[in-house]
Amino acid sequence: MFLLSCNNADPILFEKGVSLELANHRAESIKNIVYSLQLTIPPDEESAILGEEIISLEISDISHPLILDFKVPVAYLKDVSVNGKEIEYSFEDEHIIIDEEFLILGANIIAISFRVGETSLNRNEEFLYTLFVPDRARTAFPCFDQPNLKARYNLTLKIPKDWQALANGSLARTESNGDLKTLIFEETLPLSTYLFDFVVGDFKVVEQEIGGRKMTMLHRETDSIKVTRNLEAIFELHKTSIEWLEEYTGIEYPFQKFAFALIPSFQYGGMEHPGAITYKAASLFLDESATQNQLLGRASLIAHETAHMWFGDLVTMDWFSDVWMKEVFANFMAAKIVNPSFPEINHDLRFLLAHYPGAYAVDRSSGTHPIQQPLANLKDAGTLYGSIIYQKAPIVMRKLERRIGKDMMRQGLREYLSEFAYGNASWDDLIGILDSVSEEKVTNWSNQWVKSKGMPSIFPYFRTRKDSSIREFSLHQRDFNDGDNIWSQQLSVMLETEDTINYYDLDFSNEMVEIDEAKGLRKASFLICNTKGYGYGYFRLGPLTRERLLNSMYDFEDPVLRGVGWMGLWEEFLRQRIESGAMLKAILSNLESEPDLLIQQYLLGRLQNLYWKFLRTEQRLEQANIIEDVLWHQIEILSDIKLKSAYLKTYRSIALTDEAVNILHQLWNKELVVEGIKLSENDYTQLAYELALKQWPGYEQVLDEQLLSIENVDRKARMVFVRPALSGSQDIRDAFFESLKDVANREHESWVQQAIGFLHHPLRASQSEKYITPTLEMLEEIQQTGDIFFPKRVLDNTFWGHQSEEAVNNVRQFLYRNNHYPENLKNKILQASDLTFRAAEMLNREDE
Ligand SMILES: [Zn+2]
Repeated sequence: MFLLSCNNADPILFEKGVSLELANHRAESIKNIVYSLQLTIPPDEESAILGEEIISLEISDISHPLILDFKVPVAYLKDVSVNGKEIEYSFEDEHIIIDEEFLILGANIIAISFRVGETSLNRNEEFLYTLFVPDRARTAFPCFDQPNLKARYNLTLKIPKDWQALANGSLARTESNGDLKTLIFEETLPLSTYLFDFVVGDFKVVEQEIGGRKMTMLHRETDSIKVTRNLEAIFELHKTSIEWLEEYTGIEYPFQKFAFALIPSFQYGGMEHPGAITYKAASLFLDESATQNQLLGRASLIAHETAHMWFGDLVTMDWFSDVWMKEVFANFMAAKIVNPSFPEINHDLRFLLAHYPGAYAVDRSSGTHPIQQPLANLKDAGTLYGSIIYQKAPIVMRKLERRIGKDMMRQGLREYLSEFAYGNASWDDLIGILDSVSEEKVTNWSNQWVKSKGMPSIFPYFRTRKDSSIREFSLHQRDFNDGDNIWSQQLSVMLETEDTINYYDLDFSNEMVEIDEAKGLRKASFLICNTKGYGYGYFRLGPLTRERLLNSMYDFEDPVLRGVGWMGLWEEFLRQRIESGAMLKAILSNLESEPDLLIQQYLLGRLQNLYWKFLRTEQRLEQANIIEDVLWHQIEILSDIKLKSAYLKTYRSIALTDEAVNILHQLWNKELVVEGIKLSENDYTQLAYELALKQWPGYEQVLDEQLLSIENVDRKARMVFVRPALSGSQDIRDAFFESLKDVANREHESWVQQAIGFLHHPLRASQSEKYITPTLEMLEEIQQTGDIFFPKRVLDNTFWGHQSEEAVNNVRQFLYRNNHYPENLKNKILQASDLTFRAAEMLNREDE
């Protein structure tokens, strides 16, 4: 860290990245920023891209130096001049520092010539595209890289004359000069740096006028039938989304033009660059055989990115600690836009199973955290992402709308968007507006759900009279995450007695709520406190309810209720209130009768968890052939191909008896064919891996043959990479693990994740325990060098196979020795090892 000090002012603390302190100082002292950027992009990807930049801005505090962000090698920065004079500057810790003596109060012009940094340019042979979220603009050009310093951009691109380009602003004019052409784009409206983008290269351009609006699409697809098949839907879906959002927000599409580029192997589904959205091509160009779910996925993605034009782009969070907000709003709007067009899908059930299991997995662990998390430096923004943002925040947003009502929500959002248009706002700004428009006060509610961590544990309480009729029925909540938080929520309760079924809609906002209407009813026999699936928390089930759900789930016709029931049973199982044998039996006996595909898939997931994590070796061997038989029977009788292949994958994972492992081998060498299922190359590779993990005699030869049969160079390289992790030799596996300590060997993160999963396969858990502590020791470095999701995935793949007390002790001792470990990483360790802790405790208790 450096202290920049001068005589008459407090120093500004700066360090690598963009610290909150630096960001706050700049937000207060500079404004009206305009970046004029001229970039020359040569055709070959090896040559440098040169840039000339003029930044005009107003400065209201010249008692401090001006600090620009630019994260590139020193040699990339050429000249800097301020107000027409070339100056001496310093370039330290990813910042250009311009001494205050060169600045004047009010308008200043800074001119910089530089070589463009390439970290986030995604340069390929025939094209490149920028992706600057969350703080990568500073890796390309000098700027003030923080979301609340919005700026206007004048972009000029010199590119090869046959190439196309797309940027946020409209193209003003083109000039040609020899092999290059110069594209001059119109000045943009105010944008945050992470939303500035351009796409350049050999693209095909499709323009359409639809609904009175011109739209442009860039793509590189060579299969013209595929393009034609999808074209109309892609444009139509964008048009519908824009019109819906204009109507909902009361604000016309807020940017100058509408265009999008379809990029092969784009990192995400899409990114909401205003006027120049980028998509992963495969998410929009669907195959002829696309399922309803894929069609829904595409429509949702388009609606999501379009919704961002208002939520995130027009009004942007102040700081990335509120990044969850824009994502939640985009999803929330997308669901409203798209779901009505897919009436055959049960959206409540889909929402439930897509969000609750992931949210509970973190919220029940001691590594959980609030939705809104502090962020001291933008360079760490990646550590904020996880299930709490992606899965819990949408649940909470849905609760908010139910609480204040759809009309109030819409009115509040309209005010929020118009008040902060082209500017920035925080979650608290929105809550302030909602508080003022709605009768419901939501500040408290926001403190409970957004600013506090964890979830309520909800317990029913009954008192009965002598004739066993109900004297008192109440619900109680407690905070088991060492806090005393109370959560307000609406619950839909179903109470069955010997002769009646009763429904109550409750507003549960205190420690306890009593349901007076239940007084005098006959003895209670069944109680579900969350029938509609809007409630959130751990709902303790009474013994009669538990038995009924375990034994007669098929009684309940409503799939949402069954979804809630299964999740409720699983939570009880994890808290040792249901024996593993009973849980296993319930899952197995419902596989055949469960009519809903999503619930079937949920059950297959739980079956694998239970089998590998919560059964000890002997129990697993005892149960293996029973489970294998049930799964194989389903594979034989099912007609739905997608479900059938989900069963086949589960069978592949679970197969343990000689007979079943032989079946895997027969599937691999095509002696055995499952009717209706065409195995892919990837399936055959996975079968070969399972044969290795299960030590099928001759597995080395299987792997050799499999490797020979793979033609694609990338997939071949992947298999060569992961193979040592499958080896029967401990020495080879040890050496492989050792090699991962070198960052150069972790370049392909998905390969590394898979290999780590093999090392820690439950069948090898006792031999891989010794990798746990060194992995935890590497974690900080992994976070600094890897993608945002990598640390958690490494941890998940490490812990999945472990259930022993020794494994748990490794974690305990590591955390004890490193009690100043970064909070976010410590939390990830606790999240990833939660089931290992629970399994060790459960198996220990069974021993007693
Ligand atoms: Zn998004």
